Amino acid sequence: MSVRTRFAPSPTGFLHIGGARTALFCWAYARRHGGKFILRIEDTDLERSSEVSVNAILESMTWLGLDWDEGPFFQMQRLPRYKEVAEQLIASGHAYRCWMTREELELLRETQLKQNLKPRYDGRWRPERSQGLKKPEGVKPVIRFRTPEEGEVGWNDLVKGPISFPNQELDDLVLLRADGAPTYNFGVVVDDLDMQITHVIRGDDHVNNTPRQIHIFRALVKEEKIPGFAHLPMLLGADGERLSKRHGAVSVMQYKDEGFLPEALINYLARLGWSHGNEEVFPREKLLEWFDLAHVSRSPAKFDPEKALWMNQQYMKNEDPFLLSNLIREILEKMKVEIKSGPPLEKVASLLQDRANSLQQLAEAARLFYVYEEPSAQSLAGALNEKTRPALKMLAANLAAAPWERKALGAAVSATLKASGLKMPELAMPARLLVTGRTQTPSLDAVLELIGRETVLARLARHLEGA
Ligand code: GLU
Repeated sequence: MSVRTRFAPSPTGFLHIGGARTALFCWAYARRHGGKFILRIEDTDLERSSEVSVNAILESMTWLGLDWDEGPFFQMQRLPRYKEVAEQLIASGHAYRCWMTREELELLRETQLKQNLKPRYDGRWRPERSQGLKKPEGVKPVIRFRTPEEGEVGWNDLVKGPISFPNQELDDLVLLRADGAPTYNFGVVVDDLDMQITHVIRGDDHVNNTPRQIHIFRALVKEEKIPGFAHLPMLLGADGERLSKRHGAVSVMQYKDEGFLPEALINYLARLGWSHGNEEVFPREKLLEWFDLAHVSRSPAKFDPEKALWMNQQYMKNEDPFLLSNLIREILEKMKVEIKSGPPLEKVASLLQDRANSLQQLAEAARLFYVYEEPSAQSLAGALNEKTRPALKMLAANLAAAPWERKALGAAVSATLKASGLKMPELAMPARLLVTGRTQTPSLDAVLELIGRETVLARLARHLEGA
C-alpha cells in the first residue's frame, strides 16, 4: 500500500514553526516513500477559523516548498459525509443520540466534582440505559460514541513506542454536535479513512485523542485499515518552556520577512527532533533520501533562533548571487534605495553574501553601493591629517593610473602604503570614509572596483581638494 500522509491544520492563526515542522515531516515521509501528501483544513471551529488564516497557511507552505498532492480539503464542505457516517455508527450500535441538556450536564459536572470524581458524561442515553428517559422538548440531540467501558486500547506509536489507555478513562465522546458539525476526533477519523491515510504524523498534544480515534476507527473498519500513528515531541523555546510568542518569531512568514531563505528554514526544522548521524547542513534532497520516523527523537526539541540564523547564514554563503540579488532587489525597493545608477546588484551580492546572515542584512550592507552618506565634518577632520592627506592624494593618483579591476586596485593600494610608510588601516580607514561615507566595508579593493572609477576618483578629489 503506498504511503499517504496528511497535514491537517486548524485555520485559527498563522502557520507557526511547530506546525511547519509537522507539515515538513509529513511531507518528507510521503516524498521519501513515493507516496502522497494531503492537505486538509480543519475549519469546524467556526468562531476561531478564518479565511485569512487559511491563506496564511497556504502561503507559508508554498514559500517553504511543501507542495501537496491533494487538497486543500475543507471539513466544512464535508458535513453531509460526517452525518452519514454518524448514522452508520448508530445503525451498527456504536453510537447513539443523547438529549442531555446543558443544564443537566452542568449539574452532573458539579455533582462529580463535589464527590472528587473526574467530570465525565455518565452514559445515561446509551440505548441500554435510557429506557424510561423522556426526551426533553426543543433539545436537539448530539450523537455520542459508545466507547467500550472495559479493557484498554493501545497502539504502537511509530515515535514513542507502545502506548495504552484504560477505556474507563474515556467517556462517550460527542461525534456530531447538535448543529451537525463534527467534533475534532470524529472529523479526523472520517477524513483519515476517506482520504486513505496510512500514517498520521502529528504533534504529541494529540496522544490523548488517539485512543478515542482508534475506537472510532475500529467501529468503522478492519484493524489493517487503521493508519499508523507517529506523535512528534513538542517544540520548546530555548528556556525549556513550550514554544510560544514569548520566544520571538514563531510564525513562518515572519521568518520570510526577516530575510530567511526557505531552504535554510527547512534544513533547520528538519533537525528539530530528527537526526541523521551528525549531519547538520544538508539540502532538501538529502532529507528526502534519509527521512524516517525511527530517528525522530522521543524527547522535545529546543527551538533556538540563534541557531536558525546560523543555518540561514550557511545558506546565504552558498546561494547563487543572482538569486540573492533578485531577493534583495525587492527589499531595497521597499527601503527606497535606487539601484539603477550603481554597480550590478549580483556583483554586490556576491561580494557581501559571506558575511550576511539574512537577506535583510545583505540588503542593508548593499545600500553602501547605492546610497552615499556624506561623511560628517567631524569624521573628516578625524580622518584627514598631515599624514593621511598626501597619502590619499597619492592613492588617488595611483588608482587613476590603474586598470579598473580588483587586483590592480589592490596593487595601487599596496604601492601607496609602501611609498607613504602608512599601515593598511591608517590608509584604508580614511579612504573608505571618503569613498563610501563609512569606515567599515568589505575589502577596500573590492569596494573600489564595484563603486567604479569615475565615482571613486570624484569622491576622493572632492574631499582632498585644496589640501
Ligand atoms: N487540526 C488539528 C490541529 O491543528 C490536527 C490534528 C491531527 O493532525 O490530527 O492540531
